[in-house]
Amino acid sequence: MEELLNVQNLEVHFPIKKGILARTASYVHAVDGVSFTLHKGEIIGIVGESGCGKTTTGFAILRLVEPTGGRVLFQGQNLAGMTDAQMKPLRQKLQIIFQDPYSSLNPRMTLYQTLAEPMNIHGRYQGAEQKERIAHLLEIVGLKPEHQTRYPHQFSGGQRQRIGIARALCLDPEVIIGDEPVSALDVSIQAQIINLLLDLQAQFHLSYIIISHDLSIVEHLCDRILVMYLGKLVEIASYHDLYSNPKHPYTQALLSAIPSPNPRADKKRMILKGEIPSPMNPPTGCRFHPRCPHRMDSCDQVEPRLHEHGQQHFVACHLYE
Ligand code: SF4
Repeated sequence: MEELLNVQNLEVHFPIKKGILARTASYVHAVDGVSFTLHKGEIIGIVGESGCGKTTTGFAILRLVEPTGGRVLFQGQNLAGMTDAQMKPLRQKLQIIFQDPYSSLNPRMTLYQTLAEPMNIHGRYQGAEQKERIAHLLEIVGLKPEHQTRYPHQFSGGQRQRIGIARALCLDPEVIIGDEPVSALDVSIQAQIINLLLDLQAQFHLSYIIISHDLSIVEHLCDRILVMYLGKLVEIASYHDLYSNPKHPYTQALLSAIPSPNPRADKKRMILKGEIPSPMNPPTGCRFHPRCPHRMDSCDQVEPRLHEHGQQHFVACHLYE
């Protein structure tokens, strides 16, 4: 498969000044050395608890936050460090669907204006072609022509997310990053939006990065899953391998927390102790060691690296070394 995106050692550290007179800044280590590839037509999921850095990773790829280190190669060009003018043509190819379909839409713009805006900014689909393009977009995301003159508050949550998807499709993207694209929706609507995303991916041969805290959502969407903990990738595997044979203790805990449809099923829960540590002062060695039930002597000293254990199954844990 053709490699579309190659993220190499991506790092995002946010400076925080303690007090007005502080001379030195401390840093939130939001993303620390994240590396992965995305192939054409592939859907990958990035999962983990709140604060693990998954959304920051997505935003840094799109340069919605500035990476402080590493490279993001899109079709061979390094996006990190590009000027806004250099990024502008590439933004058409890299789009995002935001988590909250209401706050991501301008309440003063009609549906037509919302979809026309990116086309006007990038000088694409003008005049009669624009009207045709918008009518086509509405049809493929399941909205009606009469919706064009309505404002965001006149739509349901599911319809608003369909608008967000139509807006992401406006400029013929190749990669779409979905930041928790269904987590703000009712469960019955979630399935509709997941099916819509899958239909569009097949129709336009899109590649997705789906960011989610919910492993049961990415299970239905993704070819490969990346598990993040406290700014680091701890496991990468195909969805089948990850669900059938999770290796990292953190992944095992996440999977054990998914409710079973059969309440009588004998499912062992792995309850993690303690809170996720502060990314301002991450633990030494393995960042998961303060909560890990399998912790060994070396775990708080030596940082485990991602190694392949099984075909295309990577895990960062001393248990497998
Ligand atoms: Fe647990 Fe050690 Fe593996 Fe970290 S490296 S997940 S602390 S066993």
